[in-house]
Amino acid sequence: MLFSLAIAILLWVFQITLLNSFYKTIKYNEIKNTALDIAEHLYDENAPEFLQAITKNDGIDMMITDDEGTLLASMTSVYSVFFNNLTADVCVGIYEQTQSSGGEYLQWVESTSERDTYEEIIYVMTTSGDDPLLIILNARVTPVDSTVTTLKIQLWCVTAVMLILSLILAFTLSRRIAKPLININEGAKEIAKSNYNVQFIPHGSKEIRELSNTLNYATQELSKVEELRRELLANVSHDLRTPLTMISGYAEVMRDIPGENSPENLQVIIDEAERLNNLVSDLLELSKLEAGKIEYKIKKVNITKSIEEILTRYDKLIDFNFSFYHGKDVYVMGDELKISQVIYNLVNNAINYTGEDKAVTLTQIIDGNNVKIEITDSGEGIPQDKIKDIWDRYYKVDKSHKSAIVGTGIGLSIVKKVLDVHSGTYGVVSTLGKGSTFWFTLPLIEEEEII
Ligand code: ADP
Repeated sequence: MLFSLAIAILLWVFQITLLNSFYKTIKYNEIKNTALDIAEHLYDENAPEFLQAITKNDGIDMMITDDEGTLLASMTSVYSVFFNNLTADVCVGIYEQTQSSGGEYLQWVESTSERDTYEEIIYVMTTSGDDPLLIILNARVTPVDSTVTTLKIQLWCVTAVMLILSLILAFTLSRRIAKPLININEGAKEIAKSNYNVQFIPHGSKEIRELSNTLNYATQELSKVEELRRELLANVSHDLRTPLTMISGYAEVMRDIPGENSPENLQVIIDEAERLNNLVSDLLELSKLEAGKIEYKIKKVNITKSIEEILTRYDKLIDFNFSFYHGKDVYVMGDELKISQVIYNLVNNAINYTGEDKAVTLTQIIDGNNVKIEITDSGEGIPQDKIKDIWDRYYKVDKSHKSAIVGTGIGLSIVKKVLDVHSGTYGVVSTLGKGSTFWFTLPLIEEEEII
């Protein structure tokens, strides 16, 4: 509305108020240029035709004398009272006066004839030098009053139409944009108060609908994180409590009951303490990774050898059948410790979740410029709808599963973070009841780069 009003005011100012002065300025410039032309061409061969043309085409009467009032040329209508009164003496007077006031004189005169009242412009110009001239021009000016009246009527119409249109526009915009935005704002405030039950109803313009959908998605994700956070708190306290209960229980037994101070019982305490240690370092590791505080020591890593070394750590688990299929040793660039952790976490999961045959198979495949490592188990598998969630931190598929009690749900999110930093890809193929194959790829170093 304000914008329309501003435009209307501008139109009124320019078209009505300033029209007259614009018109006069233009007329003044026109007549001045004519005078300059005359001064320049007065002594030309075709000067008479030139002067005639000015009078005929532009309707300008003229009188040209020298500084002594001697008439050089005159093109005036016989009825011109103004020019008829200009005697030689008067002309000398006009010349001197004009010369002393800068060589130029302009006057607007209102005249009346038998039929109408009209405006006239009288322009006087003098030149000095060898051939001093006095040029007096007189022209009738078309009155702008009638034009102004027409414009006024038009402008009233334009102003009214503009105001109505802007009213309609303001109304539509507020309905389609402002109102939904106010609703969204209210919803966003609720989210800030951790109330994730808000629903953003997508209506209004396309952008607003998109914003509502995005906010709905964000709310959904936030509530998931909130739920996971709550679960983690419960999990962690549970996970911490189980080994602690074991430790204190065994320690008390060993203190109170003679003969219970056996190496086996001590081993239980050591194992449980180690489990606690692992849990705490996993949590620390992830928070460091997420805060981007880890410095990677990038160097050439023999990934085939790393896998073999990790598998030797599991030598003690004689129940398990480990197989590692690979060709020649291959190298990648990366942080050896972090890459080992990826393999370790995946193998650990395979051990935790594998089936009765306790088989865990690793395969190394060269895939173009990448090496692909697959870790396969024969466990229960992962339901398809859960596969995308397992990479989220703290996520556990089946909280009642025996192995889930051991895990914290952060192993795979560490894998994901490390592989992202190493420009690797990862995924899992799983069949329920048959097992899962977790895989990841890393870019290989070119042969010639291997020293
Ligand atoms: P956790 O410490 O609980 O194993 P992870 O982040 O490593 O945490 O794994 C997340 C979840 O993914 C696990 O809780 C489990 O439900 C599922 N998962 C991971 N590896 C396997 C696997 N090899 N077979 C079946 N489920 C798996």
